Amino acid sequence: MRKKVLIVGSGLAGLAAALRLSRRGYEVVLVEKNSKAGGRLNQLKKDGFTFDVGPSFFSMSYEFDEFVKDAGIKMPFHFVELDPLYTVNFLATGKTYTMYKDLSKLAEEFKDVEPNLEEKIRKYLNTGQKIFDGTVDLVVRRNYNSLMHYFVTLMKAPPTLMPVLFRSFWQQVSKYFDSEEVRQILSLVAFFVGRTPFDTPAVYSLLSYTEFVHNGYFNVEGGMYNIVEGLCNELKKQNITVHYNTEITGFTEKNGKLDSLTDSNGKEWNADIFLINADAAWFRGKIFNRPEFSEEKLDKLKWTMGTLTFYLGVSEKIPNVHHHNYYLGSNFKEYANKIFTNPDSFEKPYYYVNVLSRSNPGCAPEGCESLFFVCPVPDLRYKANWDDREEIVNSIIADFSKRVGMDVQQKIVSKTIYTPVEWRDQFNLHKGSALGLAHDMNQIGGFRPKNFDEKYKNVFYAGASTVPGTGLPMVIISSKLAVERIEKYG
Ligand SMILES: Cc1cc2nc3c(=O)[nH]c(=O)nc-3n(C[C@H](O)[C@H](O)[C@H](O)COP(=O)(O)OP(=O)(O)OC[C@H]3O[C@@H](n4cnc5c(N)ncnc54)[C@H](O)[C@@H]3O)c2cc1C
Repeated sequence: MRKKVLIVGSGLAGLAAALRLSRRGYEVVLVEKNSKAGGRLNQLKKDGFTFDVGPSFFSMSYEFDEFVKDAGIKMPFHFVELDPLYTVNFLATGKTYTMYKDLSKLAEEFKDVEPNLEEKIRKYLNTGQKIFDGTVDLVVRRNYNSLMHYFVTLMKAPPTLMPVLFRSFWQQVSKYFDSEEVRQILSLVAFFVGRTPFDTPAVYSLLSYTEFVHNGYFNVEGGMYNIVEGLCNELKKQNITVHYNTEITGFTEKNGKLDSLTDSNGKEWNADIFLINADAAWFRGKIFNRPEFSEEKLDKLKWTMGTLTFYLGVSEKIPNVHHHNYYLGSNFKEYANKIFTNPDSFEKPYYYVNVLSRSNPGCAPEGCESLFFVCPVPDLRYKANWDDREEIVNSIIADFSKRVGMDVQQKIVSKTIYTPVEWRDQFNLHKGSALGLAHDMNQIGGFRPKNFDEKYKNVFYAGASTVPGTGLPMVIISSKLAVERIEKYG
């Protein structure tokens, strides 16, 4: 008889795991607390505009290739490489730098502030490649059965990589580049894994190698939500049902195994195997009541940034913007040190703007623009009250207006704001931490919440807060690692 797997959550990791498991002959059912699939990879349609709610690009596209091959499906969406990758505007000088993949063109862009950039960046990326080659297959795309297993695996990494384990991202870029501009721009990638360059290990500089050399940045034709729609179509074809508006709130056990999960209406969901795509740390604490994952214990862990996101429909085309745009202030270190814990740190905001309508004109009415802003903010441990949301958002819009040379405030026809409160409540994210658990050396690999349960042998986890970590390609890998475990279980 086919074994039945119940997946809790239809985030990218849940959807990918469903298709991998179905290919292997398991009967798969999903339950999702929201009325739509995708989790953080979501979409907002409002007032004639379409917005990507969370992710606006991905890297490591080959992880999607591996996934579709493994699931036995055709790539259900179209991705397009972005070049230039993004632009970065500095408040103090007003200068905007365009990040080209072509390194000699990039060097020309920075010739006034960073002489010999091409030579320097080649050396920096070369080290990034060594870190990538020495760690990704060995450490990232692997399951660990114990901490000892993890340490033994780490010892197989080339010894020349040891120094980067003990250096911060900022120290790494400072070793190769002299200008604050280049250091700041290249270290922005640390924010993508959810912390600052000052507390993100240098090992993550392998991401610079993936963005400039090994792969690139990709946007999805028609918007990122087409990934989810494509995967949901595949689920439909395979008669896999997603039960929406179904939130798991309890459980029953029998003979040392998980017997069922219970939803908020008291309905019991039985299965042979359970795969939890809800946050792996949150679920253990909140649903399984594990003392090691109590709210107090979770509060003591390092979480990735909270985010303030807002979605603007604007009645005119915005000048001087690309698909991805970063706007930096002039106090990078002070800002990075304060932003996660200090609720009064918004006077000079740093933020990112995605102009979805630039590469996908169908996402806004003719002549209009759909804008999506992301601003790193303290999570709800440090700023619980967001009554000042309008004020903060308006200050960012005022800053943006100055930088693009247009009074954007006057042109807004649609506005939606998500503070960490909305991020927490929509997706059960601990204290509104947008990307899940942070990636310190003591919260990755064998130290991260495991993808198999400590108590129930028939429970597994996939998603951003288990191995290997956050981001779309990482949660695709996470679905692969969880499915490997389920196959071994039987
Ligand atoms: C603002 C923002 C921008 C981002 N930008 C990028 C980017 O550009 N590129 C990139 O690669 N990554 C980006 N990320 C990260 C990326 O979105 C996540 O790493 C990834 O989507 C996480 O997927 P997941 O499957 O682990 O979890 P989720 O997407 O959180 O899915 C978990 C699902 O479980 C459901 N659930 C939770 N609890 C329950 C319950 N009790 N019962 C039933 N269902 C439940 C949730 O509703 C959700 O649908 C961004 C994230 C944010 C927030």
